[in-house]
Amino acid sequence: MSNWVSAAFIALATAAPASDPPKSTTPLGSDARIPVLIVSGSDRFHDWRRTTPQLRSMLEATGRFDVRVVEDVAALESRAVTDRYRTIILNGQADRSMPGLRRNLTRYVHRGGGLVAIHWAIDNFHDWPGFSNLLGRSWQEGVSAEEHGAFEIAPTPLQNPITTNLVPWTTPAGEAVHYRLKGRAPISILATTHTALGGDQIPVAFIHMAGRGRAFFTPLGHSFATRADPNFQILIARAVEWSATGTVR
Ligand SMILES: [Zn+2]
Repeated sequence: MSNWVSAAFIALATAAPASDPPKSTTPLGSDARIPVLIVSGSDRFHDWRRTTPQLRSMLEATGRFDVRVVEDVAALESRAVTDRYRTIILNGQADRSMPGLRRNLTRYVHRGGGLVAIHWAIDNFHDWPGFSNLLGRSWQEGVSAEEHGAFEIAPTPLQNPITTNLVPWTTPAGEAVHYRLKGRAPISILATTHTALGGDQIPVAFIHMAGRGRAFFTPLGHSFATRADPNFQILIARAVEWSATGTVR
């Protein structure tokens, strides 16, 4: 384990969840559900109309989350919208952003808001290089690559509540993994896979601290069969909870 990974884990492990979220959110009681927002509504290559309600239902079924959905990414321009939620989940793709969105989302995350991006949400906001500084990495057209297949997912030894006691699993066929992503931010890799063209140790789950905010990305989720897989659902539910609170109950 490299030094920066150790340092990152120590910082995460000692963070006080109650002081992390945006100041405008109310502290959670022990029984309170965590307010989270799914941002969807556009994706050139994936059926967001099918995956968004499925994602919402899956999160609600845990009993841990109060889930809302917006289908216009412009909602992220509004502080009054974003600050109602502990985590923003990107389940879609917008080619462009607006300056107000960039400012507000950066402020939201840096002050402690969570950010989770699933699969093609890595390919967001082409006109905003800073997106990769929030998420940790982003898609770079002409450089980044995607490989399709069934992938053996192996949790790394890095200790994090998202992957505690997770066992290796294999995705359904027709899944996709990205590699050669853009960005130099210090990410902590929670799980990897092998790809035929990209090689070994390709990250399939990583976290990144952006200011006081916790970000999570997985390239998995291309296929609906993967999204219906309990292994994937546990990963996502834990990632959403961790990004929101710093812990997983
Ligand atoms: Zn895809």
